[in-house]
Amino acid sequence: MKWIGGRESGNVEEGSGGGGGRMALGGGIIGIIGFVIYMFTGVNPTELLNNGSSDQGQTQQVNRKYTPKTEQEKFAAVVFGYTEDVWGQIFQDMGSRYEQPTLHFFTGEVGTEGCGFAASSTGPFYCPGDSKVYIDLGFFEQLQNEFGASGDFARAYVIAHEVGHHVQNLLGTSQKMEQARRQLSETEYNKLSVKLELQADFYAGVWAHYIQQKGLLDPGDIDEALNAASAVGDDRLTQGRVSPDSFTHGTSEQRMYWFKKGYQTGDIKQGNTFASGAVE
Ligand SMILES: [Zn+2]
Repeated sequence: MKWIGGRESGNVEEGSGGGGGRMALGGGIIGIIGFVIYMFTGVNPTELLNNGSSDQGQTQQVNRKYTPKTEQEKFAAVVFGYTEDVWGQIFQDMGSRYEQPTLHFFTGEVGTEGCGFAASSTGPFYCPGDSKVYIDLGFFEQLQNEFGASGDFARAYVIAHEVGHHVQNLLGTSQKMEQARRQLSETEYNKLSVKLELQADFYAGVWAHYIQQKGLLDPGDIDEALNAASAVGDDRLTQGRVSPDSFTHGTSEQRMYWFKKGYQTGDIKQGNTFASGAVE
C-alpha cells in the first residue's frame, strides 16, 4: 500500500497501564459517560478484561494528542487517516456524518474508558463504549511470525476490520446485538457474533475498494488482506469477550468471501450478513 507521505490521522493517542481504577481512568465526565454507555449497551466490562488486576486506584497516563514516532505507528496512523477519508465520504454520500473514532496505542495492558481493562493477548479490539480502536503494535509482528500473514496490507486489514466495528456502532448494529444478547441463548448469540465479525470484514473490504480507486494499492495487497482474514482466528481480533472455546468465528472461507464482496462491490448495502441465508 502506498502510505509514506500519506496524511496521518489526528485522532491518535497513546497510553498503557495495568491495575484497577477502571472508572478513575479518564476521570470525571468521560468516566461517567463510559459508565452510562456500559449501562445502556449492557457491554459487561468484566467480560472484556483480564481479570487478573485488582489493585485499585492506579491510573494510566493517556497522551491525547500523540504524534506517532516509530515506522509502525506512522503506518497505523496513516491507515487510520485513510479510513477516516473513505468512511467520511461514504457517510456523507448517505447524507450522514462519520463521527471519527480514536486510535489508541498501548503496550502490554490498557485501561479503556468503556470496556474495562484488556491485555495485549486479547489482540487489537474496538470498544463501542468509547469509540476507540485499541492496538498493541506488537500484534503486527505476531501477525507475521505466528500467523504467517505478512505484508503491509495484512496490517492495514486488521485496522480496517476494527474500524468496521466502529461503523457498525455508528449504524446501530452493535446496539441491536447487545439487545439480542439479552434475549438469545449463548449458541444463538454466537451465531450472530459470527455475522457481526463477517460484516466487519465486509466493511474492511469496502474500504479497500476505495483505497484501490484512489490508486493506493500495490500488486499483491488484496492477497495479503485475504491471507490475514484467513489466517487469524477472530478471537484474536475481537474484544475477546467470548472465550475461544465457546465462540465459533467465521471460517476462513466466509471471512475471505465477505472481504472480497466488500472489495468488489464497494457498496455497504451489500453487506447484510444478518439476512437469512447470507451466512451458512
Ligand atoms: Zn472483529
